Amino acid sequence: MQRVLLDGGVATELERRGKNLTQGALWSARCIQTDAEELAEVHIAYLRAGAHVISSSTYQAFVLTLQRELALSPHGARALVRRGVEIAVQARDLFVAEQRQAEPHSPEKHARFVAASTGPYGAFLADGSEYVGKYGGQADSVTALKAFHRTQIECFVGTRADLVLFETVPNANEIQAIGELMNEPEFGALPYAISLQCRVSDAGCSLLADGSPVSAVVTKLVELDRFGSTRSLCAIGVNCVSPNDVKRFVLDIRAGIQEAQQSNTSADPTHAHARETRAFMAFLASRTNDARLPFVMSYPNSGEVYNAGSKTWQWPYLCSQTGDFDSETNRIEKWRELQLSSGAEILGGCCRTTPAFIHALGD
Ligand SMILES: [Zn+2]
Repeated sequence: MQRVLLDGGVATELERRGKNLTQGALWSARCIQTDAEELAEVHIAYLRAGAHVISSSTYQAFVLTLQRELALSPHGARALVRRGVEIAVQARDLFVAEQRQAEPHSPEKHARFVAASTGPYGAFLADGSEYVGKYGGQADSVTALKAFHRTQIECFVGTRADLVLFETVPNANEIQAIGELMNEPEFGALPYAISLQCRVSDAGCSLLADGSPVSAVVTKLVELDRFGSTRSLCAIGVNCVSPNDVKRFVLDIRAGIQEAQQSNTSADPTHAHARETRAFMAFLASRTNDARLPFVMSYPNSGEVYNAGSKTWQWPYLCSQTGDFDSETNRIEKWRELQLSSGAEILGGCCRTTPAFIHALGD
């Protein structure tokens, strides 16, 4: 198996380059309108670091939020979401063209992909509820969550995104809603990957932020895809968690996938058709001997912990006691070890990770 690499934190890299993203609820999505060039440079920095997949800065670019924060019409807001995807696509095209010129005889080495990123309903609420996982009352229903995500996914149809990446999803009903939605024929051309917001229970099991057991939720999602009409689920993973926990999460996600795949092998058609028509799925299949999808993704935070009191990121006390995290080089090396031993096929970084983290994951 050859590893597939995602990018790291886009907002982190923008902030490292001096951008202030704290104003309003748009976070890095604000740069789609104000700093498209800098954003494109960040995408290219991740491609140069070795990322096969870069994600658009649309995690927080919800149509309603854009309307409110930037005084846009619904049409203008949808156009801005698509613009965010297009900035990443153009950066990718530029990078691939450069690489082809430098090495024209190995085109297979230059495959790079764009994920249209989208956050959970909790990210739209912008109150930290993606880390709690419960939205309360009607908002927690599959119907309401489908309506919410439909508005975003409709923006991605017709863009040149290679896949949709649902990130930091904390809620079992929300995962069900996304699975049902992506089974609809109108979204069938878009492969998707879903990354969960998880925690480890006192008994050592992986739970979604809302308390649901991860493996059972994953089994249900994979079954939905297996017996659905689009077969567009290409990866399930975990993000925005401590790198210390990813091995546990990957084990439980894989157990959930295998449970679904073993339940009725005769009903499992191959992904051959899906692969022929969808370049990203063909690429994933080409990276491994076992082409069975979905793959497992791991893209945790750097290992720093946010201190809400001081509003700063700090290395956990215990880590600094061991000396492992004394220098940036040591921190990245430790993070790399945890990632490579996680058992996931697709690796990347979330908050506080930079191109240096992604570069460290390379072969
Ligand atoms: Zn994060």
